[in-house]
Amino acid sequence: MEQNSDPTVVLHACLGVGHLIPMVELAKLFVRRGISVVIAVPTPPASAADFFSASSSAVTSIVAANPSIAFHNLPPPDYPSPDPDPFLQMLDLLRLTVPSLLAFLRSLPSVAALVLDLFCIDALDAAAESGVPAYIYYTSSAGDLAAFLHLPHHFATTEGDIKDMGKALLRFPGVPPIPASDMPHTVLDRANRTCNTRIAHYGRIPEARGVLVNTYEWLEARAVSALREGVCVPDRPTPPVHCIGPLIVKGAAAEGERHSCLSWLDAQPERSVVFICFGSLGAVSAAQLKAIAHGLEKSGHRFLWVVRSPPIDPAKFFLPRPEPDLHALLPEGFTERTRGRGIVLKMWAPQVEVLRHAATGAFMTHCGWNSVLEAASAGVPMLCWPQYAEQRLNKVFVVDEMKAGVVVEGYDEELVTAEEVEKKVRLVLESEEGEKLRERLALAKLKAAEALADSGPSQAAFDEFLKDLKLSK
Ligand code: UDP
Repeated sequence: MEQNSDPTVVLHACLGVGHLIPMVELAKLFVRRGISVVIAVPTPPASAADFFSASSSAVTSIVAANPSIAFHNLPPPDYPSPDPDPFLQMLDLLRLTVPSLLAFLRSLPSVAALVLDLFCIDALDAAAESGVPAYIYYTSSAGDLAAFLHLPHHFATTEGDIKDMGKALLRFPGVPPIPASDMPHTVLDRANRTCNTRIAHYGRIPEARGVLVNTYEWLEARAVSALREGVCVPDRPTPPVHCIGPLIVKGAAAEGERHSCLSWLDAQPERSVVFICFGSLGAVSAAQLKAIAHGLEKSGHRFLWVVRSPPIDPAKFFLPRPEPDLHALLPEGFTERTRGRGIVLKMWAPQVEVLRHAATGAFMTHCGWNSVLEAASAGVPMLCWPQYAEQRLNKVFVVDEMKAGVVVEGYDEELVTAEEVEKKVRLVLESEEGEKLRERLALAKLKAAEALADSGPSQAAFDEFLKDLKLSK
């Protein structure tokens, strides 16, 4: 990285497409204002290189696609016996990277701030040691943040485990009641190391000088108010919360070659297609793929479906997946019978562009937060089918709070039936309830555009943050 004497903002990212993409979009906000910024990215040690190979290659493509952004690869730490749990392995890597981050901060002539992904929260220590103000960039919903900020208090003041509560409702400030079964698996069991690590992480959020959240206030007004009022953390002050989103990738249509699925969409009627995609890692079983296929076929509606190979051993969650064998995975004759009204893509679709296309009328999503923001900004109602991490929480907020989607029932069981897929596709694309959802989403789209407009609330929140850094120009 070229060095100059202007104070630099250092963004510290974790390895994960859903985290790195919004971090790059945040970096662009600084670049647009002429502020020096660099994204410090961890490098897995040789002992875990295979394990992180899919993430590392995603990082390589994101770096290549963003030549205007400076990246700095932090040297790999020693990690002689990686934890067998993939999530803990990632958190360990980030914790062990803190000394190299500290060395990097010290090597820069002047650092205005360190902005951390929440997974990198141990880096608060590097900020404290180098005297740099630290901020957290929260890349999921304000609702999740409100719930997670409250969790240390919940754990300190209750007994028993969330895993034993079934569908009993948890009531946290700022968010609708959350069925215990919709809490992330990482916080279900006190005896578990992942749970203790996460609760300790949430307990450290108030140490930051501020929290940037990739959301817009209109979408999550109640959670944002609770965060601002400081009621999510009863026993300590909550740092100022800046809602700077929705920060989403613009889409590559103008730059690269246009994906053929977009030309197919051009030929479909407005709001007629259901788009099915479960994020960068989500995948369902072979039996489930067949049930989705039958449901789509019976619905009679048009579809654009991203299919991945069924999940493998959970310990290999972050490993590259083989391409799906569609011939073996889809029901016999499915492709022929649905020819002309549906297309199946292997592995990946240009999601942002698909969602923004006028032909897209519904989005069956795993409720990863980027996907939710992309759907809301494009005005597309969601069929919520959460899979892992905080996606079930986001489902609760999308359906109960934002009124921006419906639940695909059975998401928490072994199989969602073909009948349910058909029913929910029809509900969104054909019914009065679907029409109401579309009206609500049209408003969400308008409010997202307003938030990002010059002097709109999200721009104003970013300026307020720069003022705190003494970097406003
Ligand atoms: N994405 C995409 N095409 C795909 C799958 C995912 O462009 O086929 C993008 C999607 O637009 C989003 C990101 O990958 O920006 C996924 O982030 P999200 O938070 O929704 O889910 P995660 O992958 O973190 O579970």
